[in-house]
Amino acid sequence: MIPVVLALVVSFVVTMVMPVVLFHLLGVGVIKRVCASSSVCLTFDDGPDPRFTPVFLDILQAYGAKATFFCLGEKVLRYPDLARRIREEGHEIGLHGFDHRHPWADPPWRAMKAIGTSTSVVRNITGQEPRLYRPPWGFWSLWNWLATRGLRRVMWSLPGRDWVRNATPESVVEHIAKSLKPGDVVLLHDGGRYSGITAEALPGLLEIIKERGLRTAAVSEIIVASNRVSTSDA
Ligand SMILES: [Zn+2]
Repeated sequence: MIPVVLALVVSFVVTMVMPVVLFHLLGVGVIKRVCASSSVCLTFDDGPDPRFTPVFLDILQAYGAKATFFCLGEKVLRYPDLARRIREEGHEIGLHGFDHRHPWADPPWRAMKAIGTSTSVVRNITGQEPRLYRPPWGFWSLWNWLATRGLRRVMWSLPGRDWVRNATPESVVEHIAKSLKPGDVVLLHDGGRYSGITAEALPGLLEIIKERGLRTAAVSEIIVASNRVSTSDA
């Protein structure tokens, strides 16, 4: 009995706890910030959502801003026109799993299937090959790590705290204004109950970015530009 319990504990630590410590807490092998002296990356999770994503897109367009949307495969399938609009307006679509199940609830085959299906859905509907992945809740397991080989794993350096209880558009703007630095990857949401708050905060955030002489860019745009610089420097 004891060896069985011990084996289960070791397996849980290796497949669930260690990936969270390594990739989430220590940031090993993930992108938390980008190498940019004049840009920041706004990222929006959990969409596309017909209540909020169109509002986000209108505001981004009005400011000439570019962002990265970490979409759920299931929602891209349900709202293909919205996913296409994100792409057509020059934003990037990254993967955020298929249905936002907690990564610890997925056995290996389901983790593989969630990434494979979401990749095909985004590719077939938008024509864009997804290059980025951010796990639901920022949680890692060994299985979603292995399933996302070949993708850039993106976390964040600045959480917008739009999901906390008592969040208001003002609190989101104030929190980001206080901490924003060039190269930050800002975590916000365009899907879910709090996304109305984020939508109201977005013009204020874009004003602050503009006032500080910064620009917004999609995550891959910066990565490609940084690689080009380092290649030409070599
Ligand atoms: Zn999420």
